[in-house]
Amino acid sequence: QAALAIIQAAREDGRDALTEIEAKDVFRAYGLDVTSTRLAKTEDEAVALANKVGYPIVMKIVSPDILHKSDASGVKVNIKDDASTREWFNKIIANAKAYKADANIHGVAIQEMAPLGSEVILGSINDAAFGPTVMFGLGGIFVEVLKDVTFAVTPVSKQQALKMQSDIRGAKILDGARGEKPRDKEAMAITIARYSHMILDLQDEIKESDANPVMVYEDGSGLKVVDARIILK
Ligand code: ADP
Ligand code: MG
Repeated sequence: QAALAIIQAAREDGRDALTEIEAKDVFRAYGLDVTSTRLAKTEDEAVALANKVGYPIVMKIVSPDILHKSDASGVKVNIKDDASTREWFNKIIANAKAYKADANIHGVAIQEMAPLGSEVILGSINDAAFGPTVMFGLGGIFVEVLKDVTFAVTPVSKQQALKMQSDIRGAKILDGARGEKPRDKEAMAITIARYSHMILDLQDEIKESDANPVMVYEDGSGLKVVDARIILK
């Protein structure tokens, strides 16, 4: 219900793309562990929120017209003090305007900075034959160059989600390659299962969605969704 209210509000605003903040609210409503993120509309609000979140923080452009934020130089990680927060608030807005002059800019997100983990991605499509379908894969070059991903039709059980993680060619990375500790596949499986319920539940609303990246930590330490995207039908 919380999720539908967010989607309804975006539609009333005449949009079919949710902002990252809205998408994360939907993900959170389905029990996914997302980074906390708040909208700052002014430089002063940015500083106040940064101090509430606690440094270091991440700042990101919030605009329904800019879905790939890095392309617009709209993401700055590891900001450590008030002066940098002020500086980057203005830079990120200026970068967005330079990228797309007529972009509707809501402001800048002040976000908890997640520690580095193994980067994986989740995605969803509405398959004509099978219906809502979840995609899982390793992030970075694994998805872009190697296309190392696997698909499962919703709903995806925790057991199936564990299997998805061993089905990919790069599965060994999650088991702890090169002396690293194994990743929290249990937490990832729960996340995949919950995400599958989200896209099944909201199949009449969501055209496509993704969580890219999700940082997965050592076994027992969970994960964090650091970016979320939802496109409405
Ligand atoms: P884009 O819209 O370009 O995909 P992202 O939100 O994914 O923007 O940010 C780009 C990159 O910045 C991510 O792939 C991740 O490596 C890093 N990043 C983004 N948000 C966070 C965060 N909250 N904590 C840590 N790293 C982050
Ligand atoms: Mg991303």
